Amino acid sequence: MRSNRFFISFLFCFLSVSLFSQVEEGRRITKELCAPKYFGRGYVKSGDSLAAVYLANEFQNKGIKPIKKSYFQPFSFDVNTFPGEMKLTLNGQELKTGIDYIVDHNSGGFHGELKFKSLTESEIFNLDSTRKIVQFIQKSIFNSVIIDVRNYQGDSLKNANSIANALTDFATVLVVTNEKFTFSVGSNPMGFPLIFVQGFAYQAAKKIEIQIDQKLKKKHIANNVVAMIPTENKKAEYLVFTAHYDHLGGMGNQTYFPGGNDNASGTSMLFALADYFKENPVPYHVVFIAFAGEEAGLIGSKYFVDHPLVDLKKIKFLLNLDIMGSGEEGITVVNATLFPTEFEKLISINEKENYLSQIKKRGPAANSDHYWFTEKGVPAFFFYTMGDNKHYHDVFDTYEELTFNKYNDIVKLIAAFAKTF
Ligand SMILES: [Zn+2]
Repeated sequence: MRSNRFFISFLFCFLSVSLFSQVEEGRRITKELCAPKYFGRGYVKSGDSLAAVYLANEFQNKGIKPIKKSYFQPFSFDVNTFPGEMKLTLNGQELKTGIDYIVDHNSGGFHGELKFKSLTESEIFNLDSTRKIVQFIQKSIFNSVIIDVRNYQGDSLKNANSIANALTDFATVLVVTNEKFTFSVGSNPMGFPLIFVQGFAYQAAKKIEIQIDQKLKKKHIANNVVAMIPTENKKAEYLVFTAHYDHLGGMGNQTYFPGGNDNASGTSMLFALADYFKENPVPYHVVFIAFAGEEAGLIGSKYFVDHPLVDLKKIKFLLNLDIMGSGEEGITVVNATLFPTEFEKLISINEKENYLSQIKKRGPAANSDHYWFTEKGVPAFFFYTMGDNKHYHDVFDTYEELTFNKYNDIVKLIAAFAKTF
């Protein structure tokens, strides 16, 4: 009897250890979500809806069911898109989209040759000269301006950028910059294109041609993907794991933003955790929500808290995972100061097991999908990893750039943390 029991617990131990090799599952799903067919899980080539179907299939393959009849929770919003051509030719040379140049997320569209004027410093910063520029544009003397902000810093850089923004009501604006490119999702398009060109790719312009297809997509339909491992006690509370699967989509029909770290990595961790909780039941219903519309302004999570599929008051704890691909420098915990007891639990697990080099404390922040839950009084943390990978909202945030160095350790930390409830 005794030895038998020993054998069983030995076997169980072995199973748990093998279940903790979650990084391969994490890699598989992250890699898939970064594939060209999902086109940055955004608003070109139906990338986000293809990704939603893929995620629902993954839940189904694992035998994890939806809460209601469907895995999908649809909602809609307006979004500015670049679904077709995206081309910038400078002095006969085609620049590389996403690397040499990007458009602003709220950029308008335009096709043709630019009749441009390079603005001098006084034309940028002197209101009277700027007004004159607008008059020249209105007389069709030129249809675009070039603003070189490479020598500006701090407030003057800010001012130059906001003048560039304002001028897009009248003309195409090309900004020459040394700033790192950061793309986003817009819903409020400008009248004309706003284009940023990297200093290294710029040479004094003689001839510029652009082809920028832009379209404001009204009421784009996106889907949160929701699944649950129920526990026997129907009245039990919920443990909720969330991660947004949407990213920035495409910039034209050739270039897309893979969003490896942000947030294919966190989405994949939902499945690693699903595997764990299937084999290691807890006395809670364990809910997994892959949110859409995060990059467009936390829209999917807002929709969920306004149309909850579970009673928000019965959520014991929610953990949001965003940017899970590195971790060499540990993780940051948003909301740590709101829930000091839970944060202490994390610290003591980590001190005992030595999973991460650092667990950094941070206050509340509206920087990912936990935010709306916090606003509704749901106890929640948001984890993000820190490490060498600084690619963020650019074309370099690829699957290949992720180390997954701390992936298993983070899954173990979360599993141990969940056991404390
Ligand atoms: Zn994100």
